[in-house]
Amino acid sequence: MIPAAFTYHRPKTLASALRLLETLGPDARVLAGGQSLLPMMKLRLASPPHLVDISRITTLQRIRKSPGRLRIGALATHWMLETAPVVRRLAPALAETASFIGDVQVRNLGTIGGSLAHADPAADYPATLLALDAEFELQDHRGSRVVVAHEFFRGLMTTALRPGELLTEIRLPVPARVGAAYLKMPNPASGFALAGVSAALAVDADGRCTMARVGITGVGPIAYRARAVEEAVVGREPTDDTLATAAAAAADGVEANADLFASAEYRRHLARVLTRRALVLARDRIRPRRQAARRAEPDAS
Ligand code: FAD
Repeated sequence: MIPAAFTYHRPKTLASALRLLETLGPDARVLAGGQSLLPMMKLRLASPPHLVDISRITTLQRIRKSPGRLRIGALATHWMLETAPVVRRLAPALAETASFIGDVQVRNLGTIGGSLAHADPAADYPATLLALDAEFELQDHRGSRVVVAHEFFRGLMTTALRPGELLTEIRLPVPARVGAAYLKMPNPASGFALAGVSAALAVDADGRCTMARVGITGVGPIAYRARAVEEAVVGREPTDDTLATAAAAAADGVEANADLFASAEYRRHLARVLTRRALVLARDRIRPRRQAARRAEPDAS
């Protein structure tokens, strides 16, 4: 349980971290909260010759509001996201998701950027960031680019990140009159999601659904948008019956994972049940116009 020897680097700025990653090339691995990478190193599933510890780069720890958006630095910890008033107010489903991760120790050290870059198929954030239509800023020493959430997750523990690139910021739109919710059935041993579903809904003045997004994690090899569910809800009044009918398509076309804890069929069943419940909760959380307007006011935090 002792990792192989490595050289430790602790850059203080983003520019120096990006330079180091460029210089060291494939021999380097980024260290953020260490909650996934260090266990892998102790088990010798990863043996990087160089570790570039980015955890002291304070500019990557910021959470702030800019017009119409919530901007979250990649080093924001799960605990910060669970408790920050600006997150609880503007993206309560994200705070809710963070609160479901591991235990307090893990939440104090683990970061949103580390979780997304690691892309465990049972991690919680991917479902919610798909449902909230997040975009990710990726940077290397040459510059930056933006990738939308549904193009970021590419396969089992594989993302759009290129060698030498850092995930630096997660950006969320903060529209009014949207309700969102995350629900999870945890693996009884690890706490990761056997299935986790995030739903976000918006309605117009007549009560018809104008937007529906559903992100599902833990069920397949990669977190996914349940497009058939979304299409079955948009344009309709989100009654219990409509949402239940739509939710039945939550696992359509998905090759579900199977392991000691849950068969593929049980995971598909969980996806359908949690999708129905998350949609109902999201609908019930859509704020009345007056509260939504207050929510959209500029915020200093
Ligand atoms: P690290 O472990 O430091 O890094 C993980 C990977 O991401 C490494 O490959 C690293 O090189 C790369 N990386 C890190 N930051 C960046 C970046 N900014 N840009 C590019 N690459 C980067 N997760 C859940 O979702 N749900 C759970 O219920 C859950 N339970 C857990 C229980 C335990 C006991 C433990 C130990 C972990 C658990 N986790 C769970 C995982 C946890 O969320 C981790 O914090 C997370 O997966 C990794 O974040 P980190 O900051 O620790 O990243």
